[in-house]
Amino acid sequence: MPLRFDNRFIRALPGDAGTGRDSRQIAGALYARVRPEPLEAPYPLLWSAETAGLLGLPAEPDPAWWPVLAGNATGEGSEPYATVYGGHQFGHWAGQLGDGRAINLGEVAGRTLQLKGAGRTPFSRHADGRAVLRSSIREFLCSEAMHHLGIPTTRALSLAGSRSTVIRDMFYDGHPEQEPCAVVCRVSESFLRFGHFELPAARDDIALLRQLTDYALTAHFPHIDAGAPNAVARLFDAVCQGSAALVARWMAVGFVHGVLNTDNLSLLSETIDYGPYGWLEAYDLQWTPNTTDAEGRRYCYGNQPAIVQWNLARLANALQPLVGDVTPLQDSLTGYNREFHAHWHRLLAAKLGLRDTVLAGNPLCYRQLVHVLSALAMDFSLFFDGLTRIAAAGGDYASAAACDALLACSYRDMPDAAPLRDWLALYQGLVDESDWPERAVAMRAANPVFVLRNHLVQDVIEAVQAGDLKPLQDIFARLKTPYADAPDDTRWVRKCPPESMRRAGCSMLSCSS
Ligand code: AMP
Ligand code: MG
Ligand code: MG
Repeated sequence: MPLRFDNRFIRALPGDAGTGRDSRQIAGALYARVRPEPLEAPYPLLWSAETAGLLGLPAEPDPAWWPVLAGNATGEGSEPYATVYGGHQFGHWAGQLGDGRAINLGEVAGRTLQLKGAGRTPFSRHADGRAVLRSSIREFLCSEAMHHLGIPTTRALSLAGSRSTVIRDMFYDGHPEQEPCAVVCRVSESFLRFGHFELPAARDDIALLRQLTDYALTAHFPHIDAGAPNAVARLFDAVCQGSAALVARWMAVGFVHGVLNTDNLSLLSETIDYGPYGWLEAYDLQWTPNTTDAEGRRYCYGNQPAIVQWNLARLANALQPLVGDVTPLQDSLTGYNREFHAHWHRLLAAKLGLRDTVLAGNPLCYRQLVHVLSALAMDFSLFFDGLTRIAAAGGDYASAAACDALLACSYRDMPDAAPLRDWLALYQGLVDESDWPERAVAMRAANPVFVLRNHLVQDVIEAVQAGDLKPLQDIFARLKTPYADAPDDTRWVRKCPPESMRRAGCSMLSCSS
């Protein structure tokens, strides 16, 4: 069975006639046609049967698809293209960016297949258009992990390795090395980013901006009447609401994206562009895994809700020429705050097994919890997992055993039990004893057992680099049931070991690799 592609995006929107990889500014167009650059000796590494299912493809790939998924052959009907967008990076307008190392193959079953790392495009600037194996493993695994956690995300269909190499400085020590290249095939209903709207707006190309917005409305927001006078305002409101729900979910599982620039935020409110991401281990609102951002901590865990709102304000600016009155845009931005807090409080209440109204009525419970988590440097996931296990066992939170189990989640050498004990007493007073065991089941559904900690992925990457693929297959299997226990969990469900705390690939990652 051939992989057959449609071309809705390029049929509907203006592109650049030229082909090639010349770095250039393109005007009046939203994409340029390109050809993926073949990799040397590509080979299959991973395949997601779940993503394949979304596309109506079988759980086992046809071997003939791999050359297409590596960028070495053209799929039936495929007319590859790279899109152009702009963006605000680290708070500053960066001008034209674009798919510098992503090439869209076209659509299958209404979803776009995009190869990340398939070579240079007109938007690669001085870079090579490639992605190295370790970052491609990180992108594939995290896309699928997020999906199985129930968090909106672009998906990963396949991961192909190769014998091609590029130069990267993995340890940031000024000694770059040759590293193997890989290609992930990502899948989404749309890869449109805030930056796609910012670029035509910044160039005052209002006709193009209008065309793109109409397309986005018709193709991806069918519940909004694209012809209505308030269509653009409603689109923006939908993006504000979707973004608020997304960020709340990130916060609830301790996910830190790492590079929340406007070119990395999806119009469809999916998590997109997995780079220097991480999962909160020792609780710290200021934590970021991104070394590029270590000084400003602009994109640290605790800033994510505010920074996404800042990015939404940039999108509002871009859409402003299309709306007569900016008041609705301002209202949606304010609404984002309200929505975020509503989602966050609902998720937090679920994590604690409390009714929303009980948590809302006891602000001290949340304040003291944050104090305990930070003062004791608690492992975020293990703490809530521990609380869930205490609930499942009948819920004697005031017992010494409960206190000890939670103290074991601390990264401090000699954690002080007093604040934890105080909080547990307060918490016990709020728990409704009559709703057990349903409460324990509900808490389990809100508190993952397994999260894709950077040190776990780094171990897997090192095994693959040494020729052992088994850990990669094992972790891919494990991440599919994050809310359940698994037999070999001593391997996966544990604190970050001390030797990994400042290890490259774990807490030290940078943007483009
Ligand atoms: P990122 O920080 O990964 O979101 O990338 C920011 C911009 O740089 C995007 O326009 C990317 O397409 C581009 N980019 C990143 N890495 C590369 C690369 N190796 N080759 C070409 N373009 C790249
Ligand atoms: Mg080096
Ligand atoms: Mg990006």
